[in-house]
Formats: sequence, structure tokens, C-alpha cells
Amino acid sequence: MARETMMSWQVGEVKITRIVEIYNFTDNINMTMSDATAEEVIALEWLHPHYATPEGLQRMNFQGFVVQAPNRNGGGLNMVVDSCIGAGRERDFDVFCNLPEGFLEDLESLGLSRAEIDTVMCTHLHFDHVGWNTYKDPESGEYRPTFPKARYLFGKTEYDAWQNVIRHDGHHSDNHLVECVDPIVALGMADFIEANHVIAEGEGWRIVTEPSHGHTPGHVHVCIESGSERAVITGDLMHHPMQCAMPHRTATFDMDKDAGRQSRQSFVEKYRDSGVVVIGAHFFDPTAGHIETAPDGETWFHGLGL
Ligand SMILES: [Zn+2]
Repeated sequence: MARETMMSWQVGEVKITRIVEIYNFTDNINMTMSDATAEEVIALEWLHPHYATPEGLQRMNFQGFVVQAPNRNGGGLNMVVDSCIGAGRERDFDVFCNLPEGFLEDLESLGLSRAEIDTVMCTHLHFDHVGWNTYKDPESGEYRPTFPKARYLFGKTEYDAWQNVIRHDGHHSDNHLVECVDPIVALGMADFIEANHVIAEGEGWRIVTEPSHGHTPGHVHVCIESGSERAVITGDLMHHPMQCAMPHRTATFDMDKDAGRQSRQSFVEKYRDSGVVVIGAHFFDPTAGHIETAPDGETWFHGLGL
């Protein structure tokens, strides 16, 4: 049975659904913005109660997305964007270890079998965006593709950076690559894409990537267009709505802090007051909303339905 944390948005003919693996995770804001304080969080009224606790802790989710579109060469598109953490994993922090398999149950509740997923798109190659690329075969102990008929899309710049530098630099564990990326590449199921890439298009809709390097060397976000409607899935170019108001502030997890700052600032400039629905990869409920200029001239994130 699907969990009530599932949530869907219709963008023209395209349906986007979030599947949550860790819901309402709270922590200090400097987990996301290294020099931000609880006092700043408490002072931003629009963050409450959805995106922050009264004590000034940030709220966030760890989640992936399913994007479904009709009429592509006679068939539809069934794509997973960012396959989250995965079940039964050993990772650096306890909260990410040995999660149950709810992700697949939620997927099935959309009427989709694993074999019906035709595309898996990873905005970048962190462990919480590649997890369900594979599952551990209980008999052989091997990691097998969760989606046996999918093409898996990895940014070429991103993959090359991890493959040639990051996984050997002594600062980053590569367990998640060994388990969730290497088996896909070995089976020839990966496509390495440019930062500006048309993922798929059909009658009246189009899904493309745009570059947002900085969080990781080849990070991209995903843009969905259908008719006159638009949405964008951020990946980790930001982790929390507060960064819409302060895109220039340092993001703790950006591997290149200056590039990350520039990507965030251009993103906010491009999408502010544009009517485009912004879907935050780690945003807590309602996860989707608009970046808007408030009457006082400040920028804020206006969650849908708030
Ligand atoms: Zn992430």
C-alpha cells in the first residue's frame, strides 16, 4: 500500500510524483548553509511551519520522483528522476542505513512495474540520488538493475569526475558507486549525456536537462515543459527553500562553493516570478512551489497551496 507521503503534480500532460524515503528529517540549518543560524531561520516567517521548526531547525525530505508523459512514438515515458537511497544499504550515517523497501511499493501504486520504467535520470552521483538504480539480489548478493529495461542517464562530466578523480581522492567513499552505478555501466545500460540534453519529447511536451555545476562537477537539473506549463526538479543545486532567499550564501555540501553559488543565483534569477513550478529535491511539504518576489522586495519560496 502506498504511503501517504506520496504527492503528485500535473504539468500539462506530464505527471510528476514524489516518492519519499526519509520524511521530515530535521537538523541544524548549517547542515545546508554553513554560516546560517537558527536565529535567521526563526526570523524568516514564511519558513514556518512547513520548512522549519519553531526552534529554528530545518525540515527536509529524502525523496525521488517519477515523471510520466504520454504519446512518445506511440508509447509513454516512465522516468525515475533521482532514485534516492535504496533499501538495506550501509552508509556513513545511521539514518541512511538499512531502510525498508517502501520506494518500490509506492512505485507500484502508480500502476507501474519495475520493467515499465524506461528511463532513470540521476541529477548527480551522490548516494541519495542513485540508490534504487540497483537492488541487492538476496540469493547471489550481487547488485542488479532495479529497472531491467531502462536506460540510465548520467552526466558525462559528472561520471568522468567521479570515475577519474573523486572516487580516488581519499575524501569520498565510493560504496554507492560500486553498488549503484558500476553494475549499470558494466551491463551497458548507461548513457552519458551532455549538460544540455533533451531527455525525451512527445506531442506537446519536452523534458530537458540544464547545467547547474557546483554541488558536484557535473550537476544538472531537469526541466519539464508541456503546453504553456513548466516545472523544474532542482536536484541538489539547493537543499532548502531558505536558499531561494539567500542563493549567494555558502552551501555546505557544494564541492565547488563558488560555482554552486553562481548556479544557485542564476537559477533563482531565471525562475523567480516566472510561473515555473519549482520542485525541490529535498524540500519538505509541499515540496513544489514558486520562487517569488515578496512585496518587500525579498525573494521567497511560495509552496503550492500555502
Ligand atoms: Zn541529495
